[in-house]
Amino acid sequence: MPPSERAVVIGAGIAGLACAARLRAAGYAVTLLERHKRVGGKIRTVPSQAGPIDAGPTVLTMRHVFDDLFAQLGARLDDHVTLIRQDTLARHFWADGRTLDLFADQVRSTEAIRDFAGPKAADQFTRFCARTARLFDAFDAPMMQAGEPRIGALTAHVLKHPSLIPAMAPLSTLQRLLRSSFDDPRLRQLFGRYATYVGGSPTHAPAILSLIWQAEASGVWVVKGGMHKLTEALGALLTEHGVDIRTSAHVDRIEVKDNTAHAIHLEDGTHLPCDVVVHAGDPRALPAGALGPDTEHIAAQTMKVARSFSARVLSFAATPHGPELAHHNVFFAADPVDEFNDLMAGRVPAHPSFYVCALDRGQGDTPPEIERFEIITNAPATHDTTDDEDLTPWLHQITQQMAQLGLTFSPMQTTQTVTTPQAFARMFPASLGALYGQTPHGLTAALKRPTACTSIPNLYLAGGGTHPGAGVPMATLSARHAVAAILSDRTSTSLSAPTAMRGGMSTA
Ligand SMILES: Cc1cc2nc3c(=O)[nH]c(=O)nc-3n(C[C@H](O)[C@H](O)[C@H](O)COP(=O)(O)OP(=O)(O)OC[C@H]3O[C@@H](n4cnc5c(N)ncnc54)[C@H](O)[C@@H]3O)c2cc1C
Repeated sequence: MPPSERAVVIGAGIAGLACAARLRAAGYAVTLLERHKRVGGKIRTVPSQAGPIDAGPTVLTMRHVFDDLFAQLGARLDDHVTLIRQDTLARHFWADGRTLDLFADQVRSTEAIRDFAGPKAADQFTRFCARTARLFDAFDAPMMQAGEPRIGALTAHVLKHPSLIPAMAPLSTLQRLLRSSFDDPRLRQLFGRYATYVGGSPTHAPAILSLIWQAEASGVWVVKGGMHKLTEALGALLTEHGVDIRTSAHVDRIEVKDNTAHAIHLEDGTHLPCDVVVHAGDPRALPAGALGPDTEHIAAQTMKVARSFSARVLSFAATPHGPELAHHNVFFAADPVDEFNDLMAGRVPAHPSFYVCALDRGQGDTPPEIERFEIITNAPATHDTTDDEDLTPWLHQITQQMAQLGLTFSPMQTTQTVTTPQAFARMFPASLGALYGQTPHGLTAALKRPTACTSIPNLYLAGGGTHPGAGVPMATLSARHAVAAILSDRTSTSLSAPTAMRGGMSTA
């Protein structure tokens, strides 16, 4: 590749930052464009008297993905951020006052489950872990690490290892699998929540999504100071390496001439010629016309497939009183199914389960007097601002639920720092407020996401809305796939080889 080739990356979430790093490492002159004032995308903060409070993801899993990313620029992750591995993965609270901790050490978790629900439950947990570990290992290479997963290759893989079929429970939902895996309804409720990590409901997500538990069981890291320290550090490293990062730069249009992305037009009238473009925002922005008429035929399936869930996120600083909190705490609704019935019907759950992330805990220090908290409940994706509803009943409900278990905060939380699905819809163009792209419901959902290549040879896609899916590590992996496709297309073009089939499983 001639060193003068110009790559433009649209969107500085973790996927866009990762694309910029990999393209720079490959020798491109890279411009990274971000419509917000800061880089990070959904890894964002809201200000408070105790400092910036995370209002997006709270922990890191699959750290090897980030070690590899920093290594692309000759850097060590540990030299740029401090990661603290968590012994306690999460503390779970039920309405009857019972609690259960799960640990990084499976033996400790098994013991905890034995104390909580008896020896049979402990055996069932051991079997569940073996099943999910097997699924994770079996699908890592042909699915997550593959740039263009193909149904044929996946089928061949499964046929070569036929014992995977019962582990996948291909015709089952996650909820049905959990019913047959655990007698104790609380454990079904707990492991069912992993479907929400990709914006789905256990009642409709395929059983194979049980493997998400393995990503967490394999290690959870807290970033010292908050998740935003990771994207800030990556942004600073990119600047050091000569990447031109422009914030408050909203891309209005990708100009295509002769089926080649030719230039990028910003809202302020700036016009940037380019040789390669990666769109690392929600891929639905292209067919929705948010990037102009020339790219409306790309990722067309994202207009048809249902969206994943969104969330209501409350970020605040306060002093907690009551039960000892871990970094990650889950407060379960009394009824495990009501919440998902509401979500599937497009309603904000009346009695939600929720996460309370005590952001200053699990950092290796005594938490300060005034701590930072993030509370997350699932909510349907919506961009309908006509009912940017009254949040008071919702806040009252979760405050009551915590108070019943003795957990209160001073000062009391207010609705002022709640991020709603409508606010997410405004922040992330064409997302309709969905936080994880397309819905993960249905067995083939994972194969319906757009992949990196599009029918415009020098336009590529990356991000949590594309393959291999949402979540910080997956979005980061999507960047690896996008840049691998760019480099491979460049090599095959320079050798005049026929261009690989473009668009993969997608209709892009
Ligand atoms: C509350 C919450 C909790 C979460 N919890 C977890 C968790 O615990 N673990 C986990 O792994 N994941 C979690 N996630 C999901 C995770 O945050 C996302 O999957 C991931 O950050 C997506 O990164 P991305 O780069 O693909 O997209 P984004 O972060 O959405 O970045 C896309 C960027 O593109 C920019 N952009 C879009 N269009 C344009 C344009 N036209 N011009 C310029 N810029 C543009 C946007 O402003 C944005 O900054 C959570 C998300 C939320 C919101």
